[in-house]
Amino acid sequence: MEVEEGRARVKVEGVFYNPRMRFCRDLDMLVFATMDSKEYFDALSASGIRGIRAALEAGKKAVFNDINPKAVKAIEENLRENGVGGEVINGDAAAVMRQRAFEHIDIDPFGSPAPFIDSACFSAKRYLSVTATDTAALCGSATNSGLKKYGAFAVKTDVYHEVGLRMLIGFVVREATKYEKALFPLISWVREHYYRVHFKIKKSTAMSARVYEKMGYLAYCSTCLRKKVLGMGEGAERCECGGKFSLIGPIWLGELKQRDFTEKVAEKAEGKLRAFLEKILAEIDAPTAYSLPALAKIHSLTLPPTDVVVGELKKLGYEASRTHYCGFCVKTDADRDMVVKILRSRKII
Ligand code: SAM
Repeated sequence: MEVEEGRARVKVEGVFYNPRMRFCRDLDMLVFATMDSKEYFDALSASGIRGIRAALEAGKKAVFNDINPKAVKAIEENLRENGVGGEVINGDAAAVMRQRAFEHIDIDPFGSPAPFIDSACFSAKRYLSVTATDTAALCGSATNSGLKKYGAFAVKTDVYHEVGLRMLIGFVVREATKYEKALFPLISWVREHYYRVHFKIKKSTAMSARVYEKMGYLAYCSTCLRKKVLGMGEGAERCECGGKFSLIGPIWLGELKQRDFTEKVAEKAEGKLRAFLEKILAEIDAPTAYSLPALAKIHSLTLPPTDVVVGELKKLGYEASRTHYCGFCVKTDADRDMVVKILRSRKII
């Protein structure tokens, strides 16, 4: 079977190809075109679609790798078909990255990227891109899997995608600091069954220590959905409602994107991609988000439109926005009691 995607045409007979990831690859091409890098290592290539598109659409010099000899044959054939040159390696991605440095590495695995992150952080010089499809382990649905793979604790909250994305970012950032590298998300998103993050890398002893200023915990009360941000080493008392806090983390508490970079990506985008990027740009950086239906249910309140709640919070001087991953969630630096107060206020219900 042959598929056409972007400027590429690839044969996917006998190799992995997921048409549902097309949106991700389309958006990736705009991200890659915004990165000022030349080399791109497609560490888990399958058909080679991502690397071939990176070469054709973002002008990258792609290097391909897959452990499966069938995939290697398919990549070689697809390179010829598309008139693209590129080295093709048949190895274990973790071993290849231990032996050789790459300017930009992309880890797009089946399920969890965790087994590849240590060697990717060791090898990558300027950029690292990571996909995770094991969202249950990251978002608190599968607490033990999260602990085993990502060394962080989570329970399922009303805004589990916020937690999942931050657990993934936190894990990758922590893995890199032992190599004196500071990683910062340039852009990240949650969509359908996967999380995607593109990082910029700075090799710096001082900066790699300072990333821990943006790492910490969310104290979460499952009774009233209150969330409090705690830095590394900080503790949590009992929740004001009498409930007990669960400490979720360590997770990334910093920005989920770099605004300038994301704006440049958005300038290149059209249609659905543009609309999605506008949502990401409209989102504030606070790690505290709330599901309005979940809060309304606790207090038996009617649900007002999300924009009305965001508007009211802003009028009161708080930072507030919608989220890109849930139509009924708000992000805000206001306390959950303030959000409930707004839900209660008659004039907006
Ligand atoms: N990036 C591809 C795309 O955009 O269509 C999809 C990659 S697919 C999800 C994962 C690929 O990783 C498979 O082709 C599999 O053979 C390969 N793989 C699994 N374990 C590997 C390892 N340890 N080293 C290298 N490749 C591996």
